[in-house]
Amino acid sequence: MATALQLANSGLRVTLLEKQHYVGGRTSALRDQGFTFDRGPTFFLYPRILEEIFASLGRDLYQEIPMQRLDPQYRLAFATGGKIDATPDVARLKEQVAQISPRDAQQVDSFLRDNRTKLKHFAPILENEFSCWRQLFTPKMLSLLPLVKVHRSLEQDLRSYFHDPRVRLSFSFQSKYLGMSPFQCPSLFSILSFLEYEYGVFHPTGGCSRVSERMAEIAREMGVDIRLGEEVQKLRFSGRKVTGAITCKGEYACDALVINADFARAMLRLVPESLRPRWNNRKLGRCKYSCSTYMLYLGVKGSVDLPHHVIYFSSEYEQNLKDITDHYRLSRDPSFYLQNACMTDPSLAPPGCSTLYCLVPVPHLHPNLDWQREGARLRQVAFEQMARLGLYDLESRVIVEHQVTPDDWAAMEIHRGATFSMAHTLDQMLFLRPQNRYQDLDGVYLVGGSTHPGSGLPVIYSSARITCRALTGDLGASWREESQLAKV
Ligand SMILES: Cc1cc2nc3c(=O)[nH]c(=O)nc-3n(C[C@H](O)[C@H](O)[C@H](O)COP(=O)(O)OP(=O)(O)OC[C@H]3O[C@@H](n4cnc5c(N)ncnc54)[C@H](O)[C@@H]3O)c2cc1C
Repeated sequence: MATALQLANSGLRVTLLEKQHYVGGRTSALRDQGFTFDRGPTFFLYPRILEEIFASLGRDLYQEIPMQRLDPQYRLAFATGGKIDATPDVARLKEQVAQISPRDAQQVDSFLRDNRTKLKHFAPILENEFSCWRQLFTPKMLSLLPLVKVHRSLEQDLRSYFHDPRVRLSFSFQSKYLGMSPFQCPSLFSILSFLEYEYGVFHPTGGCSRVSERMAEIAREMGVDIRLGEEVQKLRFSGRKVTGAITCKGEYACDALVINADFARAMLRLVPESLRPRWNNRKLGRCKYSCSTYMLYLGVKGSVDLPHHVIYFSSEYEQNLKDITDHYRLSRDPSFYLQNACMTDPSLAPPGCSTLYCLVPVPHLHPNLDWQREGARLRQVAFEQMARLGLYDLESRVIVEHQVTPDDWAAMEIHRGATFSMAHTLDQMLFLRPQNRYQDLDGVYLVGGSTHPGSGLPVIYSSARITCRALTGDLGASWREESQLAKV
């Protein structure tokens, strides 16, 4: 959607072909009997990129999509004891950390300071095309190597700041936004928790899905032809060049094609292997993919006395992560995330009711797990886990219930049901990730979680901008990146 808006703003004629009957993909709404749930994202972070994209269209993001900065941004509840209400107010944050580990509270300032520096240096890399290994060896990039600490995982990096494992988790669990374990995730991603404290965790009124929906409304006003319920079933090729996309309703000729579908799935389904020398089936099979998620969306009677976002950490957090990424099995006491959005935004449920969104990280599709069977079992576990947060009588209050398993994510065209796309290991980042200007084909561009810079909404909007810059340059269209707000 961000790509369509920017291309239309450059004067190009844009047709958007969407398989589903709704817009937004993972960032869409599930609505039932007056309850509105976000299907996927619930944390809206680092609005700066989207703010700039809107400004380039002459629109103010916050007027188009009202949103509220949360404080506390979330509660962290530890099965091993203690909790942290994570607040962006650093003095109060230190008090919270001190309740768990007084000596670690003194380290919060240096953690934030070091990551401020790190983000300042890395932001340009996350906002620009990275197409060639030579870009790694510029003097500027080499000067950043000490900041990346390639030999360290995120968890190892945090050991140099925090002594208590619960405090380390508080500043590293954000690697789960990339579907990765902090024990495997590169240390670079300590910037994720920093981003939350420095720039905020937001709740767009009506949910994150409103962001996609408002973008679609604006895109239509700008002349984008959005065609819902039209799955691209085939591509038309002339040698390496894509000349059209074919759906059940007809063929669309194009000068350039942007693929937002999950990369591995789109390649396996739409591009013959003979046209993919770099990304052949063997390579796609060897790639590492993120974890998946088991979801319960519940519309319940009454209110729920919990903060907007709560993250519960298992008593065996590290084992739980290994179960997900190494053993492909379910844990006895899984960590999970619960969203209680109505405490901020009552518009999401009928009067006197609430929505609850429960996310349990699980392995991506693997023969070990048959979700026809495991779905019912995990539902029970999810209710038991929610009872640990004090929600004892929840099942009797349920009015509306929806479940999504890795099988369902896969049915939404996500390869192996890996909800956070290709993993963000160092060998699958920058020029080693599928590139925005797709190398194997001509006139084809990629956008979304499986391309550079990676998964998660802010970086996906960044990928849209990188891709549009490349595409408009190649087609000789005008590229408008600067703010048009003052001119409106
Ligand atoms: C449960 C969950 C929670 C998350 N939480 C957060 C969060 O709190 N904050 C955050 O920033 N990120 C979060 N994420 C990650 C974020 O949702 C994703 O990174 C992002 O939405 C992926 O965007 P995308 O454009 O790459 O893919 P998608 O949103 O999946 O878009 C791809 C689109 O392509 C369509 N498509 C696929 N194949 C075809 C075809 N052949 N023809 C036509 N259309 C097709 C799909 O229907 C879909 O609409 C979460 C993800 C999940 C699943």
